[in-house]
Amino acid sequence: TQTAPHRRARAEIDLGALRANVRTLRARVAPHVQMMAVVKADAYGHGAVRCARAALDAGATWLGTATPHEALALRAAGLREARIMCWLWTPGDPWAEGIEAGLDMSVSGTWALREVTEAAQAVGRPARVQLKADTGLGRNGCQPADWPELVTEALKAEAQGLVRVTGLWSHFACADEPGHPSIPAQLDVFRTMLDHAEKAGVRPEVRHIANSPATLTLPEAHFDLVRPGIAMYGVSPDPAVGTSAELGLRPVMSLKASVALVKRVPGGHGVSYGHHYVTPGETTLGLIPLGYADGVPRHASGRGPVLVGDRVRTVAGRVAMDQFVVDLDGDLPEAGTEAVLFGPGDRGEPTAQDWAVAADTIAYEIVTRIGARVPRVYV
Ligand code: PLP
Repeated sequence: TQTAPHRRARAEIDLGALRANVRTLRARVAPHVQMMAVVKADAYGHGAVRCARAALDAGATWLGTATPHEALALRAAGLREARIMCWLWTPGDPWAEGIEAGLDMSVSGTWALREVTEAAQAVGRPARVQLKADTGLGRNGCQPADWPELVTEALKAEAQGLVRVTGLWSHFACADEPGHPSIPAQLDVFRTMLDHAEKAGVRPEVRHIANSPATLTLPEAHFDLVRPGIAMYGVSPDPAVGTSAELGLRPVMSLKASVALVKRVPGGHGVSYGHHYVTPGETTLGLIPLGYADGVPRHASGRGPVLVGDRVRTVAGRVAMDQFVVDLDGDLPEAGTEAVLFGPGDRGEPTAQDWAVAADTIAYEIVTRIGARVPRVYV
């Protein structure tokens, strides 16, 4: 992650909180159930390598990424022991490097099986593959109708010593909506697909389907391994599942900046592009040196909350690329005063979930999109 210390904006990453969250999640699953720490997208913006190490320290045994490049970067950074699984492969991706790096590689269709077996032949070593079932998400994964063919082909490649089928797995569509009828429906389909594969002779080390909300609310979905992402970062998957505090989780990221400028302005003064905010009377304005290039959502213009001093202020007018303004309501803090956009929420500051509401999105997007220009500071 790049640093820009002169801007005095930073994302503080509380690795102690991350470790505590991993332990809390571990305590919610049976002892034999392993945990895969999902660290894709630079650990949802928190820094993949540092978070991966912290999660492994706290009891995770696997790491999960979307792309093979993310997984290879973890190995290159020295994470050599943990199993690493990656699930988003595109034709032409580096299967051979994946085999050499000992990755567990997800396969959703016969094209992928073909590429991975060719790579295994070239490398001279079997590839670890995990067959992904589409049990109803309608995204990646093998359809139930195509599953027997994929299983047969994978077993053939296993018999030739080209692959080892290490896992069978799937992903939920609506686990963050407790009680949604698709949840038991997906579990039924998953059990049927597992049954088929195992009767055909697949001997997986791990079978898994549970993301954070399923880890938190659905013990029957834990199987051999759970794959939490957002909960590890202390953020609730959805208010319907509970708040972070209710779930015993502590938000890991705090986004802070120093107020860059404080000035008095008269009433009737337009603020920021488009003049969508006009000061209602004489007041003071504070300039916050973070903008949409840093991941502050422009959609939260006029709505995003920021703690300055002991009060939560609101973004005045539009969020610009590098900065935005808050109306300080006549207060005159010194330039350099700390502004907190979000944090754990127990010191009066807003949370990432508050920003999600202000930007009409989910808290996942708020933390994940914090830009590379914002230094991550590990505390
Ligand atoms: N497993 C897979 C395949 C994913 O794509 C993700 C993230 O979207 C996760 C697990 C973790 O999900 P969550 O952050 O909801 O725990």
